[in-house]
Amino acid sequence: MSGASRISDSYNADKEEIMPSKTALVDYKKCHPEKCDNGVCAAVLACTHKLLKQEAPYEIPMMNPSVCQGCGDCVRACPLKAIKIVTM
Ligand code: SF4
Ligand code: SF4
Repeated sequence: MSGASRISDSYNADKEEIMPSKTALVDYKKCHPEKCDNGVCAAVLACTHKLLKQEAPYEIPMMNPSVCQGCGDCVRACPLKAIKIVTM
């Protein structure tokens, strides 16, 4: 009985690690860095975790979804609504 319980607990712990998580995604059809302030991505500046990267002004920002916190700061910062939060 207790053995089964331990297996169940362990299974649940594994499940928690692979629970769906939220992440930000850039919609490249809506993203136009040339319309942003001096080509600088406001969403990149807003992400305190530095997960969005822009190689240079006027470049499309790139995302590292594996460690995104899903906080939505980048979504709120983008004037063109080019970023959305999705559940993975
Ligand atoms: S994601 Fe938004 S803020 Fe960033 S470059 Fe694209 S349009 Fe501008
Ligand atoms: S949702 Fe939050 S953690 Fe994820 S990229 Fe946007 S600002 Fe960064």
